Amino acid sequence: IVEISGLHKAFGRLEVLKGIDLRVRRGQVVCIIGPSGSGKSTLLRCVNLLEEPNEGTVVVNGHELTDPDVDLDGARREIGMVFQAFNLFGHLSVLENLTVAQRKVLRRGKAEAERIARENLEKVGLSDKVGAMPAQLSGGQQQRAAIARALAMDPQVMLFDEPTSALDPELVGDVLGVMRRLATEGMTMLVVTHEMQFAREVGDVVLFMDDGMVVEQGPPAQVIGNPREPRTQSFLSRVL
Ligand code: ATP
Ligand code: MG
Repeated sequence: IVEISGLHKAFGRLEVLKGIDLRVRRGQVVCIIGPSGSGKSTLLRCVNLLEEPNEGTVVVNGHELTDPDVDLDGARREIGMVFQAFNLFGHLSVLENLTVAQRKVLRRGKAEAERIARENLEKVGLSDKVGAMPAQLSGGQQQRAAIARALAMDPQVMLFDEPTSALDPELVGDVLGVMRRLATEGMTMLVVTHEMQFAREVGDVVLFMDDGMVVEQGPPAQVIGNPREPRTQSFLSRVL
């Protein structure tokens, strides 16, 4: 469902992605690990063309996003994204956060958008926060609301960029639990994470990036459990 070939991205003279190839099948969970600055976020942002690649192609669910003639808004509609920093609209209630894009982008009516919003809030365990403002939620609740908001758009693929790294430790588990459920339900997911246990248990594929390249990829038992590449070994010995 995701096919990335020969992806290069530079910021000025700084080469951040140096030829990435990646294929993700429908229903797969791909966890991306690697040191700070290795290009993980940039890779994820290239998947929905938040960053424009210098070279290479990105195809998601049959749409070539790198084609200059593509309906970019249409293609992006199928891709949900959750970032590290909470990105709820602070001046809107939780319910409004979940309905605004459904109504504007998908042209759903008020009642339908609210029904779908409530379904997704229930899914992430926030039924009782429908009317709350984001500032009244804990970080973990905000992050789960952000996930519910992305899900309300019926995405084909979900991108997560370190969704738990800004959270207090005791709140991490709830968010990972929601992601784990989503994976079980068959959602296709690309997850940049420092949570090695999550990558091990939920990932179908783990991809280790260093210096703008994919150094090693494969099943978690191999890449995390028994890495072949010295760079992967040294990274894991620092984080595990
Ligand atoms: P982290 O684990 O710290 O989040 P990362 O693997 O996600 O790191 P990226 O955010 O993809 O790394 O950044 C890769 C490199 O690209 C870094 O050197 C960063 O400074 C640089 N970079 C990222 N975005 C930009 C930008 N908009 N302009 C210039 N340089 C950028
Ligand atoms: Mg990053």
